[in-house]
This record gives sequence, C-alpha cells and structure tokens, in this order.
Amino acid sequence: MEPNYSFIFAQISNLRMPYKPAIYLFIFLFCQFRALAQDFHPPLNIPLVLSGNFGEIRSNHFHSGLDIKTQGRIGLPVFCITDGTVARVKVSPYGYGKALYINHPNGQTSVYAHLNSFSPEIEAWIEDQQYAQKSYDINTFPPAGKFVFKKGDEIGKSGNSGSSGGPHLHFEIRDTKTERPINPLKYPFKIADNKAPSIYGLSVYALDDKSHVNNTHYANFSMGGSYGNYSLKPGETISAHGNIGFALHTIDRLDAANNKCGVYKVTLSAGNDILYQFEIDELDFSTNRYMNAHIDYRNYKKYRKHYHRLYTVENNPLDIYNIRKRNGALQCIGEGEIPIKITVEDVAGNASTLEFTVQCTAQPSTRIIEANPNQQWVDCKKPFEWKSDIASVAIPSSCLYLSEYMDFKSSTDNNGLPVLTVGDETYGAQKSYTLRLKIPETLMPKANKIHLGKVAANGRAYPDNPGEVHGAWFEAKNREFGTYTLLVDTLNPYIKPLSFYPGKEVRNGNSLRFRIKDSGSGIQEYNMYIDDQWVLASYDYRTGALTHIFDTERIKPGKHVLRVEILDKVGNLESYSGTFTSY
Ligand SMILES: [Zn+2]
Repeated sequence: MEPNYSFIFAQISNLRMPYKPAIYLFIFLFCQFRALAQDFHPPLNIPLVLSGNFGEIRSNHFHSGLDIKTQGRIGLPVFCITDGTVARVKVSPYGYGKALYINHPNGQTSVYAHLNSFSPEIEAWIEDQQYAQKSYDINTFPPAGKFVFKKGDEIGKSGNSGSSGGPHLHFEIRDTKTERPINPLKYPFKIADNKAPSIYGLSVYALDDKSHVNNTHYANFSMGGSYGNYSLKPGETISAHGNIGFALHTIDRLDAANNKCGVYKVTLSAGNDILYQFEIDELDFSTNRYMNAHIDYRNYKKYRKHYHRLYTVENNPLDIYNIRKRNGALQCIGEGEIPIKITVEDVAGNASTLEFTVQCTAQPSTRIIEANPNQQWVDCKKPFEWKSDIASVAIPSSCLYLSEYMDFKSSTDNNGLPVLTVGDETYGAQKSYTLRLKIPETLMPKANKIHLGKVAANGRAYPDNPGEVHGAWFEAKNREFGTYTLLVDTLNPYIKPLSFYPGKEVRNGNSLRFRIKDSGSGIQEYNMYIDDQWVLASYDYRTGALTHIFDTERIKPGKHVLRVEILDKVGNLESYSGTFTSY
C-alpha cells in the first residue's frame, strides 16, 4: 500500500521547528530507499551464491548479469522476480541456450538463461513455433499478455543449456527500452559480500616515445602490503618521465564462494587530483566488445590476467568512466614526487587501496624503438592495407583499439599452400578485417571445399572460418589475428546412432539419440525427419548429442523411416536412415 505522503507532509508542517529538518531528511531517505529497494522475489529459492557477477571480464565482453550457482544441479525451479509478461523466448545450442525475457511494468526486463526447460505452457507453444519454422534454433516474441507471470511464479527449471560450462542460472535485469543491462547487485537480492577486492599487480606504461618508466616502456609490479591495504613490495620504486599510464590486476570475491568476480569501481588519484574513475552500473551490448580496449588485452590473452587500464586508449568509446582527466594519463614533468592512490570497490562498498609514489625525472627517454623488417605501423584511426603476391589484408579504421606495430608476412609451405601472418592473437579487433589468400592451381578443382585454417603454436592448422572463394582467391572476414592458411574439407560429417537401431520399437517419450561430428569445417545444419516430415531434435555441441524425443501426438502408430541429415560449412552432406515401429 502507498503511504499517503501529502497527509504525512501536512502533519509535519504542523510540527514545531527543531524537529522539521530531521523529519524531512528521514522522509527523503525513506523515499530513496523505497526507490532502490524494489521488492523483487529472488530468482531461485536457495541462498544466492555467485560464480560470476556483473561487469566481470569475459572473452570479448563484460559479463552482463549474475551467474547464480545451482548447487551443481539442474532442474531447480526458477521464479519470476516481479509481475510481468513474457516478451521473448530464445532457444539455441549456443549462447544463452534456453532463455526467457520478461517485461515488467517498472520499465525493466528480467532475463533467465541456460534454462533446462520453460513452464509447460511455454514449452508447448515454443515447440509449435519450432515445428512451424522447422528449426531447433528459435528467437520469438510472443504477443504481449500471452504468457503472464506474477511475482514468485515458476517460469521454468534451471539448467546448463547453451554455452554454459556447468549448471547455473544466468540472470539479468535490463532497461526494457534501451535493452541496456543494469547491475543487479544494485538491488537488494541478499547476496552477502564482506570481502574487499584483491589487487595482484600493477602495470605502468610509457604512453609515447618521449616517455619512460624506469628507463623502459613498460614495468610490472607485484603487490606487497596486506589485504585491503596494498603497496609496492619493499625496495620497488617507480621513476618516470613524460606521459605514463597504469593498469591494475584486480578481482573481487563475494562471501560463500571463492569464484573470481569483477570489481565495481576503480579510482585513480594523483595527489588531490582524481585522474580516472571506472564504475560499472550499466552496459551497452552495442559497445560491450570494447571491453578489449578497457583491459590490457595482450596480458589477458597471454596470461588470462584481468588488468584494468586506468587510462583510455585511442579507440575506446565506452561510457563506464565517470572521470577521465587527460584520458587518465599521469604527466611527469620536471623533478619531484607524485603520490598515487588507487581505490578499488565492490558494490557492497568494500574497498582496497594501493598507494605509492612516482619519482619524476627530468631526463627524457633515450629508448630507440626498432621495428623488425616485417613490422608495419598500423594507425587505428585509418584504414590499412598490405599485400604480397599470394596474400592481402585490409584492416578498416577503428578495428584496432590502439595504433601499434604489427607483423605482416606471407610464405608458401611444403605443400604449396599460402601462409599469412597478421600480427598475432594478442592484438584485439573490434571489427572484422578482410584477409585474402591465393588458391594454388593444384587446389582449384577442390576450391569449393576450401576453408580458413588458423595455424597454432604447434604448427598445426585448425578449422577457423568457412570464408568465400572469388576466382583464384579465398577471402575471409576475421575478428582475430594470427597466422592463417588454407584447409580443404572433402569429408562428410559423421553420424553415429546411440539409442537407435533399425527395427527398433519406439514408444511415447523415448529418446532417439545420435552423436554427430565434423572434424573439418564444422557443423552448419542438423535435421531429423520421420517419413520425410521434419521433427524437432535438440543439439548439444559440447557432447555432439542430437536428440529427438518421440511424441505420439505428432507421429501415429505404425512403421516409419527415420532420417538424419548433417551438413558441414563447405556443403558436405551426410545422411543416415533406418526404419522403426511406433506404438
Ligand atoms: Zn552468465
């Protein structure tokens, strides 16, 4: 029930002076608290323990929700956090797996992903949609009001579907209009956190040729001090000249679990001057990949360490920075000491600090930056092209996050195949760039079976991208860098029956299960048919299981022919068929 504010205010106005400010303040705070304390039902009815939080650094993105542990189990009931109507239902072998999006009258959408199943009425409806579209993958928007849930209603069961590494519930709150995910820890979901963030390391970068840190371009320091209160190790000092930037290896842990989570807020001060502040209240899917610009991408790719840059590089339009004075760079001009303080906070307000001083030296850099003969300077603000007789590369502007030297070279291997190097995997790409490789004469008869191979450190090439053939050239769009060559896939996919054999007697609810695989270009399409009619089969790419649950509502008793068809990315088609009898 809404309190009658005008009545309350009228009563306060009648009070004598000394109490009034205090009471107004109390009411103001009470209203603030009400605004935030949306009385959401928890999405699970077990204690909420997180294996991942909002803003945590993941591959090519900041994590957009909470990963809530389900005690290693699937099939726990999942609850609607507040009254709402189902706006979207998505099913895919990848990504969010089975996911439900519910719109609420407060202008927010809640998202529940990696589900094992939806509520029975949604399950039945989505299956009809899958049959109508002849596809297991589906992304549908039910009419408003078709599926309505009250706060606390069960919307489905938790699972491990899609790109999930173990049973858990991925839960998000979004602004319905903008679809921007909001940090759910801003709401009182009763997720205990009394641990301060951990700080593991500090990197310092000279930001241009005339600058240096400890007489070089980069220095890394491990941490001394104690939990919550960090410092450089005894004897470690930082001297610098010119423009330098910092990056901090930091993570947070919550109570009740040891999982590494992301930090919420990082503030960098030089003396009394705040140079930079990062705070992760909201995200935007259209820019979320720029997480690669926020972190030290090279360090992440090499060592999986989460170094947050405390300055911003050239190509970083993220709006998660409250303050960026001189893009967060520290200016060391003249001689003297600058006291630096870095504070890291979590949403619950636990904080850790790192304090040290930078000794400024008058001496400019004497570093000489020498590029190797294969290296080219790539200005990230301009398009860049490189070519040889057998390969070419076209990188659009704003593809790289910062301007850098990159390796470009091409050669021919022992089998006469072109090999192209474009930097290496420690260079991040926001957009796709185009690479082209000349197809050798001998391969032209199999040109339509060519796909891109990525050459690993062990020298072997692994399937990467189907690409396209244009005359004597193979062309692919790519968002990773490294060494590439051509691969040929002339083999059909592989189909192995697991719970099916010709002549099998099948009853309602029996599962007809196959293992499917393609070790060349990869699986593009999978379909099952009974008597030439498409039937629903779920695919789990992690195990290769393709499963049809036999349904007597759809297939009448009698003799039938089951057919499985698997198509790979260069068009090789394998099929399997067998007869069975249903009862
Ligand atoms: Zn997640």
